[in-house]
Amino acid sequence: MIRITTLIGKPVAVFGLGASGVATAQALIEGGAKVAAWDDLEASRKAAAAAGIPIVDMQEANWLAFAVLVLAPGVPLTHPEPHWAVKAAKLAGVEVIGDLELFARERRIEPFDVPLVAITGTNGKSTTTALIAHILCAAGRDVEVGGNIGTAMLSLKPFAPGRHYVVECSSYQIDLAPSLDATVGVLLNITPDHLDRHGTIENYAAIKARLPRGANRAVISVDDRYCRMIVDDLRAGTHSDGPEKILRISVQPGSECEVGLESAYVVLKEKGEALEVAGLSGVGSLRGVHNAENACAATAALMLLPTPLKREQIAEHMKSFPGLAHRMEELGQVGRTLFINDSKATNADSSEKALLSFPSDIYWILGGKAKDGGIAALEANFPRVVKAYLIGEATDEFAKTLEGKVLFERCGTLDVAVAAAARDAAASVALEPVVLLSPACASFDQYRNFEIRGDAFRDLVAALPGIALKTRAA
Ligand code: ADP
Repeated sequence: MIRITTLIGKPVAVFGLGASGVATAQALIEGGAKVAAWDDLEASRKAAAAAGIPIVDMQEANWLAFAVLVLAPGVPLTHPEPHWAVKAAKLAGVEVIGDLELFARERRIEPFDVPLVAITGTNGKSTTTALIAHILCAAGRDVEVGGNIGTAMLSLKPFAPGRHYVVECSSYQIDLAPSLDATVGVLLNITPDHLDRHGTIENYAAIKARLPRGANRAVISVDDRYCRMIVDDLRAGTHSDGPEKILRISVQPGSECEVGLESAYVVLKEKGEALEVAGLSGVGSLRGVHNAENACAATAALMLLPTPLKREQIAEHMKSFPGLAHRMEELGQVGRTLFINDSKATNADSSEKALLSFPSDIYWILGGKAKDGGIAALEANFPRVVKAYLIGEATDEFAKTLEGKVLFERCGTLDVAVAAAARDAAASVALEPVVLLSPACASFDQYRNFEIRGDAFRDLVAALPGIALKTRAA
């Protein structure tokens, strides 16, 4: 646990008692703050009370007495409208922050340097966070990984000389961390998402922009227009608080960025020369151009650390990245057929990335609870698919879209789909047929979440006769 000592003796309101809220309350109590905690859900209040956290009814509380409100990132700060606790705090002039801000303030009072790599973006955050942490760890550094990716910020191990923190930041967390000053800030991409919570894309982009702007050094992709605007703005030098150095990344051929992609290599570009850093071909966990972007970002971040990693270290350890479960996760092979679990692909955009990762011979398992627009936007990639296997509620809608364009089979459930796809792929003469679960749908009609759906797929694949399983991803 990271004890928060910056609020010693002060009354602090903690609202939202999920895993991160409970960790926050405990870290504050351990550091000497006087915590009053609350949640709208009785079950959460009870669980927190059982963990020794003082519960105070904040509907009745005197808000003027609080020094600060620490809000869980899931609680609306601004849109669709501020939560009542936020309104009460603002009315009383109480500052509203999150656990990431507490982390940042505590980090600043340490007498030694605490390297912090903070990663944000609409897509690829978890992969890039895990990749940076994996390479650092494999290179022998002491590394803590947390934030949006899993372990709550304040549940990480305490600050210690040489210990690196690699932290995934959602826009909600950044919104609650006004003084976040990472050693290296990484911004991967910005596309419309979570606008229900941030109002407009401009507001969403402005929040994301704060992370690289507050960082000492920044890595920013220039492959979308919002990130390009952010880079241009920072490079114009109008912000006195901007990063001292920026490495731009792009996976577009021939880009002028400092870090890019050439012939499946992450390259460093200097004075017109491209220096190969790390090869991606054959790295199964980093298939596809989207993962090349993540690899470029990780490389740039590792080179910007106060004690940077050497190129050889990045090249060597990139190769052993196990990948994350449910994201283009290689499960194993039966003969020539490769089985891939991309259960995290809950919309067409994500499934497009998966389809683009293989040139052809895809046996595609999809379906579930469809999102608006279904899979119509994926039509350009249908020629890569040999046959589709439909499951769940979306079956009729997807069948209509595929009709006359791709062979398909109505399978209903995942077990039927896996058996059918495995059978057809085994009969194929292709060099490496791929059975790909990339549903382009939410899981809720048949599974509680995408993890459970992916686990079910993994179990079904593991039970196939002749399966050679890969090492399980972390
Ligand atoms: P996040 O943590 O931001 O949700 P993940 O690393 O978990 O991102 O990846 C989720 C999905 O997003 C992947 O399955 C893939 O479809 C897509 N994705 C990953 N990296 C990128 C990227 N750099 N650009 C666009 N899409 C990506």
